[in-house]
Amino acid sequence: MLAPAPKPWIMEIAPYVPGRATTDDGRKVAKLSSNENPLGTSAEAKEAFRSAADSLERYPDASGTIVREAIAEMYDLDPARVIYGNGSDEILHLAAGAFAGPGDEVIFVRYGFSVYEIAARRVGAVPVVAPDKDYATDTDAILGHVNERTRIVYIANPNNPTGTYTSREEIARLHAGLPGNVLLVLDHAYSEYLDPSEDDGGLALARTAQNVLVTRTFSKIYGLAAERIGWGYASADIVEALHRIRLPFNMTIAGQRAAVAALHDSGFVAHSRAHNARWRAWFAEQIASMGNAGLRPVPSKANFLLVLFEGRLTAEAAYKGLMDAGYITRWLPGQKLGHGLRITIGTEDDMRGLTEALRRLVADAG
Ligand SMILES: *Cc1c(COP(=O)(O)O)cnc(C)c1O
Repeated sequence: MLAPAPKPWIMEIAPYVPGRATTDDGRKVAKLSSNENPLGTSAEAKEAFRSAADSLERYPDASGTIVREAIAEMYDLDPARVIYGNGSDEILHLAAGAFAGPGDEVIFVRYGFSVYEIAARRVGAVPVVAPDKDYATDTDAILGHVNERTRIVYIANPNNPTGTYTSREEIARLHAGLPGNVLLVLDHAYSEYLDPSEDDGGLALARTAQNVLVTRTFSKIYGLAAERIGWGYASADIVEALHRIRLPFNMTIAGQRAAVAALHDSGFVAHSRAHNARWRAWFAEQIASMGNAGLRPVPSKANFLLVLFEGRLTAEAAYKGLMDAGYITRWLPGQKLGHGLRITIGTEDDMRGLTEALRRLVADAG
């Protein structure tokens, strides 16, 4: 019997696995598996979201005007060069769709964001994995994998799932080492969690370079993951190419309004950043204080901590034990991180409760 055959490169894709929201037995517990904002969403953003209920019969503004203008004003950018998407995931896919195809190569780091591989395979390109340097991005390893077939390099900074950060100098060196026809995609999903004095120089590069695309999202510090709003910045030519393949109405009215309000609520953002920095440092110290149990936190500048289990307690046992105690974390054996758990920084109660549960698991493992 004849049946439609998916393209072979589509069948090579391992589907994206989202963080879980419920336990095996369906209990609703602390979800520390998807790097969402534990403090919720700006009250003003919620109010703006609700206002959209009055115009549900209308298509949203296809050109995302209010979002582009708010972003351009905030970061001093050209609004015409702001691309937007149904989450920044869409923009990551647009980059692959416009700049890579069958036979081309797309580079990303081992322990990188899983969407890069899916985006590359989706268009028939060959994913190329550059080795890490103790879980962090290794600029030389990436440059060492560039050849005449390379079309895109994807880097998240800070990186997910490691939380590691690549300095401004290293990003500049990476960009300087890339041929001009290779698109450097700098995924800034967690950049709002950096200390405001820190900046990897990505946006400055995207302003002037002809081969840099920076992506940002409203899903993380802004607490708008449900609304799927992301944006990016690049040269006019790159943005023009991305627009050709973007879905016509890729941001809802509610999402656009909520994003603009969230952007303007700088108090909520600063509070979220300070909360995260405080409890991330506290949690890393707690793990270090568990002595020779073999738990090792990877240095993180994001809103999560990757904890490596190198002693008697395995990451899998900790994952299950924490779930029994009411905390869902992210165990990533599919990303060759079967020995680690990525744990989102939650509320104070979450962090104290999870730490206590982890101490018990370590003690029980002897
Ligand atoms: C969460 C995340 C995103 C954002 O995805 P959205 O589609 O904007 O929700 C992008 N990149 C990385 C590395 C992430 O962790």
